[in-house]
Amino acid sequence: MIRLEDGRFIPSILYYHRVAPDISPHVGVTPEMFEWQMRFLKKLEIKGVTVADGLNGADPQKTCILTFDDGYLDNFEYAAPILEDLGFRGTVFCLSACLGSLSAWSEDPLWSGIPLMDKEEIQELSDRGFEIGSHTRSHCDLGRTSREDPLRVRREIFDSRTELEDILGKPVTAFCYPYGSLSPESVEWVREAGYTSARGVRRTRIGGMYDPFMLPCRPVSGRMSPVRFSAYALGARMGL
Ligand SMILES: [Zn+2]
Repeated sequence: MIRLEDGRFIPSILYYHRVAPDISPHVGVTPEMFEWQMRFLKKLEIKGVTVADGLNGADPQKTCILTFDDGYLDNFEYAAPILEDLGFRGTVFCLSACLGSLSAWSEDPLWSGIPLMDKEEIQELSDRGFEIGSHTRSHCDLGRTSREDPLRVRREIFDSRTELEDILGKPVTAFCYPYGSLSPESVEWVREAGYTSARGVRRTRIGGMYDPFMLPCRPVSGRMSPVRFSAYALGARMGL
């Protein structure tokens, strides 16, 4: 569980990137591993939910928020059907100016040239009960860009919300900082733009109290052993 500054508890947040066969463990998990992890949660009677559901009254001991950064096409192809089979859902943080293109914000070959979902695919996921959140327009490093080009930072935060809402026809309320990079102004603009929460990449600390606009998470990579994942899941169950 995560304790908010106002004393409320919300479910733990797991953080994924890609889910695809034959994937490097540095960038994601295989569908087999992902399915094992989700079934393990189910066995513990923990349900995977969206950020919106997690913040709006889901029992934090019986749910876990599942988040996926960047909006990779493999989330649509592999992760979504596995989640639906178990009655789970999750939130995918998408880049409104990069829909239907290939990832191009990193020079690392492991992270570049990867297909991202297009408008129709995010619309379909949304219709199927998944939540689409904003991850800016173009994977902007908000902390660094705040100093160089604050107007761009505002656009990345405000315009990504309206662009996604135009596609989905419903409010977009969850935000996620690319690279976990932020500045005091960017956090303020995320609030001002009308989002109701934002996730970074800081890890959840036992005993920590959090601003809903700087939510922590527990990252899951392909390097994580089943034993370690079990400890994560049991921790969520026990309210850690
Ligand atoms: Zn990202």
